[in-house]
Amino acid sequence: MFQADLMESTARFRSTAEDPTRNLSSCPALVLNADYTPLAYYPLSVWPWQTAIKAVFLDRVDIVASYEREVHSPSLDMKIPSVIALRQYVRQSEFPAFTRFNVFLRDRFQCQYCGNPHQLTFDHVIPRRLGGRTTWENIITACAPCNMKKGGRTPKQAAMPVRRAPIRPTSWQLQQYGKRFPPNYLHETWRDWLYWDIELEA
Ligand SMILES: [Zn+2]
Repeated sequence: MFQADLMESTARFRSTAEDPTRNLSSCPALVLNADYTPLAYYPLSVWPWQTAIKAVFLDRVDIVASYEREVHSPSLDMKIPSVIALRQYVRQSEFPAFTRFNVFLRDRFQCQYCGNPHQLTFDHVIPRRLGGRTTWENIITACAPCNMKKGGRTPKQAAMPVRRAPIRPTSWQLQQYGKRFPPNYLHETWRDWLYWDIELEA
């Protein structure tokens, strides 16, 4: 975002090995919008520690939580931020990006023909040769065996009904589905910001 002009401001920092339990590369910061909701869910808005610290020094973000891990410069010791919040609100898009991951997420990582959660691929519901386009409304998750079986036919021709009609989801809908498929890396300080109702559902 604002990396180029800021290399200098963090060049003074050097990593240390004081905390052997946490590598610097595993200290990303969760980025919240000014309203303290994540800037993005899919992919989750996460910055590397250098970018987070640059933003702190530019007064663009507030530190919400920090790792125990510190970085040192000649003039300052600083804990690495684990959660930061933008000072200026960034307007959110109502609709998520059309990506492979988001299509899987919309379809709950299940083949939309048989429910199989393995060997997942993408299928054009209306085949391309029949004019089917690559859009939210025409791409669904399909396991490799179903994809093979269906071939270049429509669901009707193949007698393979689609379980859930593919629609373009809203960002809010994807967030709901995403709770069941959390990212691989979740620092404990992030949970409060990602899932407000995690305690209620536990
Ligand atoms: Zn299948």
